[in-house]
Amino acid sequence: MGGLAHGFPHAPGDIDDSVVRRARELRGPWTRCGVVMPVVTRVRKVQAPDGKHQHIGGVCTAEGTYVSRQDVAAAMDAGEAWWSEGGGTRVRIRKAPYCPYPECVTFPYLTTAPDHSRANNLENLPWC
Ligand SMILES: [Zn+2]
Repeated sequence: MGGLAHGFPHAPGDIDDSVVRRARELRGPWTRCGVVMPVVTRVRKVQAPDGKHQHIGGVCTAEGTYVSRQDVAAAMDAGEAWWSEGGGTRVRIRKAPYCPYPECVTFPYLTTAPDHSRANNLENLPWC
């Protein structure tokens, strides 16, 4: 009985550090499994071709980099996960077939999955 198999300390990976990790995520680049997740904090709206409404032309990341709507869609096509952050919460950005404005056929468009927060809705982010 006894021996080395007994009483081994927990390896660092065994410790539930989700609280620590979450605190760290809210600063600096956010990574999951070592991959940097682009986080969008602002959007840039542009005049639509019909002149009657404005829709998202691109986004600005937490680092302040502007990325066009087409480039975000292409990055997501390539497998990247993009997130929208507002009001302290994040939600995944999705590709939408078209701008939600009736009769607007601008595509691809970007949207966010509905969740409990409206603050992180892509359409509600501050402009950049
Ligand atoms: Zn539109």
